[in-house]
Amino acid sequence: MSRKLIYVFILLIVLAFVFIAGGEAGERLAGYPEPLSQEFEGVPILMYHKVNPDPGTGGHGLRVHPRNFEKQISYLVKSGFTAISLKDLADHYQKGSPLPPRPVVITFDDGYMDNYTYAYPILKKHGMTATIFVVAGTVGGINEFDYNEGRQPKNKMADWTQLKEMSGGGITIGAHTVRHPRLGDINPEEVKAEIVDSKMILEKELNRPVEVFCYPYGSYNETTVALVKESGFSAAVTTFQGLGRFDREPFELKRIRITGDYSIDRFAEELAMYSKN
Ligand SMILES: [Zn+2]
Repeated sequence: MSRKLIYVFILLIVLAFVFIAGGEAGERLAGYPEPLSQEFEGVPILMYHKVNPDPGTGGHGLRVHPRNFEKQISYLVKSGFTAISLKDLADHYQKGSPLPPRPVVITFDDGYMDNYTYAYPILKKHGMTATIFVVAGTVGGINEFDYNEGRQPKNKMADWTQLKEMSGGGITIGAHTVRHPRLGDINPEEVKAEIVDSKMILEKELNRPVEVFCYPYGSYNETTVALVKESGFSAAVTTFQGLGRFDREPFELKRIRITGDYSIDRFAEELAMYSKN
């Protein structure tokens, strides 16, 4: 009998802790936004994939409705955020160029056509920029890397004309390999070719330097990082959750994943959580 009582007591203590921790998270959110000390805490790097109203293009894991995307961009503007490109972040740390008081990096992986159709007009309207990591081998085609494996429905990828227009309009284009393999799982020669060729193809077609990289599926290892560095990139992003700390890990930058089922409150909560560490 007394052992049972002890168990109940332990359970009550655990519940009390959960309750207190929850309360603290709420208070932290209420205190936001305060100006951040970016030099020490890092910069939020948001990760998006598709911005599309059509459920036929995929589930909420990778697809945000344009209406929600616009709410999120408005929230950032109202909260005093200025969007910068990943290159601006690298330049700040490497060349000392200034950053705005509250920078945010908006990134899109893969290079879907809906980034051009839906996201780009919203970004322009609100004066925000973004970085798009393009799979060089699927430009103007479909998402072979996910569709062929049955992971995602068929999606159109942006073509060169659309990428050129966005690049000319202030969007930064980054590399995301040629075929979108898991770089941590293939041999170093193939990894090197995926990294170097994607950079070369994008630079040739867009006629601009391509200096930022994104690991497909967040898959990489020490060799991958070394190869990205020696191939002339100045930064790389992962799929790990957290603030981008360029001072500590310029080639393993963490991001904040934004999924299609986030309410605006959840969006704000994610930003606040990581922004306060
Ligand atoms: Zn990808």
